[in-house]
Amino acid sequence: MNLTNKKISIIGAKRSGIGAAKLVKQLGGIPFVSDSTSDEKMNHFIQQLENENIQYELGVHSERVFDAELFVVSPGVPSDAKVILDAKKKGIEVLSEVELAFNFCAGTIISITGTNGKTTTTAFLGHVLNECGLKSFVAGNIGLAFSEIVLDVKKDDYVSLETSSFQLDYIKNFRAKISMILNITIDHLDRYDNKFENYVASKYRIFENQTDSDALIINDDNEALCNYEIKTKAPIKKFSFTKKLANGVFVESNFAIYFENGIEKFRFNLNDLFIRGEHNWQNAMAVIIAAKLLGVNNEKLTKALCSFRGVEHRLELVKEIDGVKYINDSKATNIDSVIYALKSFDNPIILILGGKDKGNDYSQINDLILSKVKKIYALGSSREKIFKFFHKTMKVEIKETLKECVDAASKEARSGDIVLLSPACASWDQYENFEQRGNEFKKIVETLF
Ligand code: ADP
Repeated sequence: MNLTNKKISIIGAKRSGIGAAKLVKQLGGIPFVSDSTSDEKMNHFIQQLENENIQYELGVHSERVFDAELFVVSPGVPSDAKVILDAKKKGIEVLSEVELAFNFCAGTIISITGTNGKTTTTAFLGHVLNECGLKSFVAGNIGLAFSEIVLDVKKDDYVSLETSSFQLDYIKNFRAKISMILNITIDHLDRYDNKFENYVASKYRIFENQTDSDALIINDDNEALCNYEIKTKAPIKKFSFTKKLANGVFVESNFAIYFENGIEKFRFNLNDLFIRGEHNWQNAMAVIIAAKLLGVNNEKLTKALCSFRGVEHRLELVKEIDGVKYINDSKATNIDSVIYALKSFDNPIILILGGKDKGNDYSQINDLILSKVKKIYALGSSREKIFKFFHKTMKVEIKETLKECVDAASKEARSGDIVLLSPACASWDQYENFEQRGNEFKKIVETLF
């Protein structure tokens, strides 16, 4: 792909848009960034464009965007956005930021998608490869755009790349040496005409350009991945809790066992992981397959698996005070994530629940809560709903602020208990994002003694 003197419109002026614009400029093209929003949250991003002397517009997509040979879209832009449809009508090619960067990547890409677990697994794999001596970049939807780092990637380097379905919607030649689909469950259907099969098809694009010299890793316990046919030239490696696999990883007596053509090549005691929960066992199995396909040494792999400490705001151990563990799971913005969180602990839990409810049905976690949780502190705009649902069967107390919740929980807790922020709700009622909420939780915990 030659970008010299090419006019390229970049739709979306956040992380991936900025990354794409900088890459285009570095490669001799003429980027123009356009974003339909214009609030003060954009200031930080705009400053970067100003610093780089890149032209942009905010609050509108003017006619100027169509004076371009190529559109690069950020994952946050819906595929039915008028500006995209208009560009297509005018015959302008539309690509995602990942596709753009792919064209300039000298190293080996391992691309990770799934409904849940992408960020954790991307970071996990990056950690493992680096610890095993394979220089690896961690990029994609994880906070650092692929375009930002791609020119630093050398031939012998690796990129652990978090790839959302929105990025896959606009690929063309994108191809990873190893691709991974962790799971597909119902989510984001609003972006896919409310059709689950469209969402699956989007995820399946991750392997559409793979060849027989590549590999595809999938979760053999996931219903969608079993039900929707996978047509690929790439050899498929599977992981499963229950099915013994001749090629892939399965679990036996808490050991993840990796087989290649029916021969055992590696085994790892999953209880040695620092990160907790069944879902993280699945993430570990996927990482093991990728690492073994890349030929890492067994001893180093074992050490690297054990030393991964997880990703901030996902079942993150903040501190242990007087035998009470404080866990930040602020990223748990839906019921499903709370189910995984609760299942991850055997000790009594004091749960901080609530925030901006996206239509939660608490009956889905009722039994689990009754068996695991000794008290709920209900917070945020959903606090009344939570109180009404649970107060007849267990102790629930409404609080106005996170600080009140943590203070009260710390008084209530006894040695061996867990104080868990796993809200099942978005954060927008009181915070800008889940990171801000998680950071505040951590700050409050740090002040406890
Ligand atoms: P994503 O990037 O796909 O949103 P994250 O790694 O940020 O995934 O995790 C999002 C939420 O899902 C967290 O609450 C986390 O604990 C949970 N999670 C992590 N891995 C998995 C998995 N394999 N299956 C289901 N849930 C998971």
